[in-house]
Amino acid sequence: MWSFVLDEVKHQRTLAMETARNDAMNLATAFEAHVQSVIGLMDFVLLDMRKHMLERSASQSYVYEGLLNYGNFVKQVAVIDKNGLLVFSNLASSEKPVNLSDREHFRVHRDHPLEDRLFISKPVLGRVSKQWTIQFTRPIHQDGEFSGVLVLSVPTNFFADYYQQINVGANGSIALVGTDRSLRAIASGVAIPGRYGRFKVPEDRPYFDQNAPAHGFYEGVSSIDGEYRLGAYRRLTDGDVVVVVLLSPKDFMAAFHKRRELLIASAGIISLLLAVVALLIFVLSSRYFQSTEKLRQSHDLLAQLANTDVLTGVSSRRSFLASLEAELARARRHDESLSLLMLDIDHFKRVNDLYGHPVGDAVLKQFTAICASMLRAHDLFGRLGGEEFAIALPHTDPDGARSVAEKIRMAIEQAPLTTAAGNIGITVSIGVAQTHAGQHEIDQLIAWADKALYDAKHGGRNQVRVGRPEDEAEG
Ligand code: GH3
Ligand code: MG
Ligand code: MG
Repeated sequence: MWSFVLDEVKHQRTLAMETARNDAMNLATAFEAHVQSVIGLMDFVLLDMRKHMLERSASQSYVYEGLLNYGNFVKQVAVIDKNGLLVFSNLASSEKPVNLSDREHFRVHRDHPLEDRLFISKPVLGRVSKQWTIQFTRPIHQDGEFSGVLVLSVPTNFFADYYQQINVGANGSIALVGTDRSLRAIASGVAIPGRYGRFKVPEDRPYFDQNAPAHGFYEGVSSIDGEYRLGAYRRLTDGDVVVVVLLSPKDFMAAFHKRRELLIASAGIISLLLAVVALLIFVLSSRYFQSTEKLRQSHDLLAQLANTDVLTGVSSRRSFLASLEAELARARRHDESLSLLMLDIDHFKRVNDLYGHPVGDAVLKQFTAICASMLRAHDLFGRLGGEEFAIALPHTDPDGARSVAEKIRMAIEQAPLTTAAGNIGITVSIGVAQTHAGQHEIDQLIAWADKALYDAKHGGRNQVRVGRPEDEAEG
């Protein structure tokens, strides 16, 4: 999910930048068309006025008429003579002569007396109008010689006011820059130091490079406020001016930033929810596993209790018989011998009668411990009830079984059993039955061993008897 969100954020960022570039270029194109038309109009006015002036010697009345016609964007119409003195202005009161021979828009025509071209000045503070204006000028020639300059002054506000109406964002700007690096006009959300006066655009800007394409994009740090700007420029074909539109990421990325915040916040909330759900699942499942583990443990304990004789710790009757059944099946599969020993303590009733039941219990415990110590790990040992026990000996033939039984009998006979009532001696009678490859059922085997035990008892006790299959059949 996060990789999707980050991809989406990246995509949105690229989209916002692309849109801003397109917007800047579109604005610059519209701006260029506007500037071209203004220049065209100014030149038309200049040429028209010059023609009429040359036709009529008294031009003043015509100028006032013309001014009325051309509307309020022309601040001043002036004529400078060939020496640079202001000979006519619709604003000037002609008390003292104004010398304009130092003005660029005069010099450029005087120094190229044969050229008849339109000149657009950088903004100057008018000596007569006291306003920042741009001068649109054409030379006046009389009798083939340079005789002065006709000047139209247009307030820089004229452009600025127009551009101000174009929405370039609070931090954007739209500017008309001369190739001499001075601003002709600018509308900017950010204040320009020195405005039209001394301000110079840094020379590293791509649009000052005469080899650069006539229009293109510009990206970089603004010389006005040191902030990053993205923009577009278009160089005008005639006239040495470039239109520049600069947009600030502060403005055009604002929507993107809002969207990014929203995206990241939503993803964050979803992650949090997922984490909570995961935590919940973890807690619940660990509780579940804990409880099933406890359940399993108590089940195991219960099974162990059910399978074990509490007093002696050997297998219970039920468990022993189940294991014996399994061993018989195994012997059947592997074609092996299996022997069964039935043990019964002799005259055990007397022990109880003489020493009491608890001493009888102690004797039972020690009896099983001695028997168990003589068995192999895989032999089965169970208490069938009272003082009766059974031992199963896997893959053991009748001779082996007899010798194990004999060893047990002797060990019991010889071991004094230590009790609270002193040392007690007991004996045990053992009946042995044997089967091969599981030919007999469990009940047959038990009955057969029982018969042998019965024989041992009747034979005088404290002895081992090995039964034969026919014994059981007789029994
Ligand atoms: P026999 O030689 O014929 O086997 O004589 P016996 O006395 O051992 O035989 P009998 O079956 O008459 O008596 C078994 C006695 O074992 C009876 C009972 O009191 C005693 N007994 C059975 N279970 C327990 C037990 O868990 N603890 C104690 N202390 N005695 C038990
Ligand atoms: Mg008995
Ligand atoms: Mg007995």
